[in-house]
Amino acid sequence: MTVLTRPELIGTITELRAALDRDRAATRRADGTPGRVVLVPTMGALHAGHLSLVRRARSRGEIVVVSIFVNPLQFGAGEDLDAYPRTLDADVALLTELGVDVVFVPTADEMYPAGGGLTRVVAGPVGSLLEGAARPGHFDGMLTVVSKLINIVGPDTVMFGQKDAQQVFLVQRMVADLNLRVAIEVAPIVREPSGLALSSRNRYLEPSEAEAAVSLSEGLGAASVAAALGTADAAAATRTARAIIAARPLVKLDYLVVVHPETFLPVEAQHRGPARMLVAALVGHTRLIDNVPLDLNPEPRATAQKI
Ligand code: AMP
Repeated sequence: MTVLTRPELIGTITELRAALDRDRAATRRADGTPGRVVLVPTMGALHAGHLSLVRRARSRGEIVVVSIFVNPLQFGAGEDLDAYPRTLDADVALLTELGVDVVFVPTADEMYPAGGGLTRVVAGPVGSLLEGAARPGHFDGMLTVVSKLINIVGPDTVMFGQKDAQQVFLVQRMVADLNLRVAIEVAPIVREPSGLALSSRNRYLEPSEAEAAVSLSEGLGAASVAAALGTADAAAATRTARAIIAARPLVKLDYLVVVHPETFLPVEAQHRGPARMLVAALVGHTRLIDNVPLDLNPEPRATAQKI
């Protein structure tokens, strides 16, 4: 029988740094370099999507740190900060099974003494589009806490999920723009068998809402097939997805757009080449997001060979 060791649960920055210095030295590799630290930032209420990131992290480094922190800075007025699910005991049990070394669970006071300094990381123009338009200040709050976590943990790699595509884009930009010495790795979206992307907020959905919410991944899937067949440009792929989602009155679409992977800006209607389709919708009171890569309207294939 394998004996599982509970991760070390640490709430303060000082203790975390001391524990990681100790762990890095203890896992020094044959070439003399210290053990690699991989950080998985989360807000808890862990599900299989988070766990896929943690498994990936386990295979990348000697020391895996999972942070669980519901970051007040990235919630706007009237959002679900207080109601956000908090399930620490269950989270720690899951992380124990995956062999996580350290769980960092700071309080809001530890991260933002006296309510927080005035310094913020500002996301730039893409930070106020799409999710940023629906949630003003969200991405500044997210980038501020991610940069704090990077400075606190000093990881070699930070693991993010593709589920939050705009978050991934902005974190990668921040790392490049601010020359942060860290690698960002992105893990694919984990879905329910129905196709619904896993989210901590799915637990708010009534059964009828969960069923209607499947139209988001169905719409994206149909757009992706149309793109792969070479029959759709950005506008046609959007129409395909929109028709499927519009058939579900419980789903109130916020945006459905195709963006360029390098700029995250909406592409032109006839765009060719790689792109990403993003969707956000309110289902009941629950805001859901999803996305899919598209290879749009590749160059027309050579016509039939002359004999
Ligand atoms: P959160 O706890 O919502 O802040 O998410 C923590 C990390 O888990 C983020 O990098 C998310 O993108 C990632 N994540 C959340 N849901 C999924 C999912 N269904 N598949 C893959 N990654 C996910």
